[in-house]
Amino acid sequence: MSIDRLAMDQMTQPGLCIKTFGCQMNEYDSEKIVHLLAASHRLVESPEEAELIIVNSCSVRDKAEHKLFSLLGELRDLKESRPSVVLGVAGCVAQQEGQELLRRNSGVDFVVGTHNLSLIPALVQRARRGGERQVAVDFREEWEELPAAFSALELEGRTGVRALVAIQRGCSKRCTFCVVPTTRGEEVSRSAEEILREVRLKASLGAREVVLLGQTVNSYGRDLHPRASFAALIRRIAQIKGVERIRFTSPHPADVHSDFLDLYAEVPQLAPHIHLPVQSGSNRILRLMKRNYRRERYLQIVEELRNRSPQLAITTDIIVGFPTETDEDFALTLELLREVRYHSAFLFKYSPRPNTAALSRFSASEEVPPASAQARFQTLQEAQDEISLQHNASLLGRQVQVLVEGASNNIRSLLRGRIPQNTLCEFAGDSADIGSVVHVQVEHASAHGLRGNRLS
Ligand code: SF4
Repeated sequence: MSIDRLAMDQMTQPGLCIKTFGCQMNEYDSEKIVHLLAASHRLVESPEEAELIIVNSCSVRDKAEHKLFSLLGELRDLKESRPSVVLGVAGCVAQQEGQELLRRNSGVDFVVGTHNLSLIPALVQRARRGGERQVAVDFREEWEELPAAFSALELEGRTGVRALVAIQRGCSKRCTFCVVPTTRGEEVSRSAEEILREVRLKASLGAREVVLLGQTVNSYGRDLHPRASFAALIRRIAQIKGVERIRFTSPHPADVHSDFLDLYAEVPQLAPHIHLPVQSGSNRILRLMKRNYRRERYLQIVEELRNRSPQLAITTDIIVGFPTETDEDFALTLELLREVRYHSAFLFKYSPRPNTAALSRFSASEEVPPASAQARFQTLQEAQDEISLQHNASLLGRQVQVLVEGASNNIRSLLRGRIPQNTLCEFAGDSADIGSVVHVQVEHASAHGLRGNRLS
């Protein structure tokens, strides 16, 4: 088909708008949905331009769930004025709520869970024909591979410099605060050949940084026959032409062994950054969370990582206000944060989630009062901001290598990219820089990133 014809066909195709909440796994699933519908839809930015709207939802915290329900309220109004619009909900809330989501939201035409994305084209068609509203939330044991979704033709022009690649689905750890095992199912590893195929394809289309996704990436391969290992997978990916940086999110501290640690000394493509969720610095709280490690082991891992990679940036997730958390527990978390000196941290206030052990185990009287949780959150955030600023300020006047991803989200005239340690860096450059590594002299540092001048 000629390019003109293709462009014309695309102009006449119905618009598809995807709204994505939550983590990178959801972003990746949204990419898959786009590929699945690429032949029959054109991607549009706003719901007002769309004939098909899919909301990819997140239920990891109640805040994200509230955002979903308020968006669904707005979209119901839009559907009342344009009844031909089809509205679907995918992702973790879809998986968790199923039929209930349809019952509570009259505008929703279909609900599709985390294991059934391949059914979306059929669900859309059925809705367009005026069929009954549908729910598809059955769990599958096998990996839902979508071969058609990753052909070179469909990815062309959509693959950025940074490619997300899922290596694992679900989680079998059952941390007591976490909804993931019920929304994404048991841990299932994807076949190494499929992973390598996707990485090769994306690298051939311009991706230079690969981000491997999974809930506990370093337990990858234990369920495969024959068994496989995460370390071996990383070494194979490092051999793929065009892959200059490898990242992953997130490893679990309880599954860190020497073959994993050695990657940081031996694989040059592995970026000097690790996101290693700690959640709490108190052993008592870690036990109640069922995290399966103690703070001493976590600190030992940090030391061993830094011995192997002295420039390593470490980031983390922390929950404050877990039920029964005392001032002493919190002080231990603050102390750990200062000892590790994270480059950045995602801090969250505990929120009870459906179908979790913490929800059924703790009574309301064991919950941390909201004002205390807020005060702890604030204290931790201030401490972390100070440390992040110190890390970033240490780069003032120095040259950094930035892999350029695109326009800045803050100031559109600037470009944005990441240094190897994953810190965001903005600079004035040319759009021709997108996709390449450029040298930038750092002129400004904040707790959240760097700004500088591109060196020719
Ligand atoms: S390791 Fe724990 S926190 Fe992470 S996804 Fe699994 S259950 Fe949730």
